[in-house]
Amino acid sequence: MPEIKLITFDLDDTFWDIKSTIINAEINSRKWIEDKIKKKIEWGTFDDFLEIRNELIKENPSLDYDLGLLRKKMISYHTQKYFKNQKDLDEFIEEAYMFFLEERHKVEFFDDVIPVLEKLSLNYKLGVLTNGNADIKKLGIDHMFDFSVSSMDVKSNKPDQGHFIRAKELSQINFHNTLHVGDHPVNDVCGARELGINVMWFNLNNLVWDIDENPPIQFKKWSDFVNLLEENYGN
Ligand SMILES: [Mg+2]
Repeated sequence: MPEIKLITFDLDDTFWDIKSTIINAEINSRKWIEDKIKKKIEWGTFDDFLEIRNELIKENPSLDYDLGLLRKKMISYHTQKYFKNQKDLDEFIEEAYMFFLEERHKVEFFDDVIPVLEKLSLNYKLGVLTNGNADIKKLGIDHMFDFSVSSMDVKSNKPDQGHFIRAKELSQINFHNTLHVGDHPVNDVCGARELGINVMWFNLNNLVWDIDENPPIQFKKWSDFVNLLEENYGN
């Protein structure tokens, strides 16, 4: 039984529900933009959004991991025709992006996440490995973590190895003594396992593990986490 010294966590859909967070941020941002430029904007359907997004990524592949720039390009796509010069447009995009970012951080933590992290932070090094652009400082939870790695930092998305390797470099703790916790079967569980990192799957919706014959340790309530950790790793 490996001794766990470092626990890394995914953020979106592991500490809070991301869909409702982003939908609210999107609705409020759209309203903010329309109020500012005093125009009704045709935002299109979700499929339109995906199509524009894919086009933008095709033009600039780094947008696949640079969510901030992707967001700014989307704002520009919908608003540029209302601006006469680039400087005004750029300033507007920056302001609109800042508004979105504030909204995107209005998350509702799942029950018991914070007390569990507080407890764990006394005995383990803790880190964040996220493909998203949530910022633990902005969320006021950074005091519990030793580090945070985003896709921008490593120019790739989990399940690629970048996040996990950076965690090892930052903590100086090897994969064998690391536990990664996340909701995503591929990005979190398979990505970490591939490197020999211990895993726990946050499986809120009781999904069936159908990737291989070896389902990971899983939990759906954060209040169960510490016991599960003790049972499985004896720490
Ligand atoms: Mg996630």
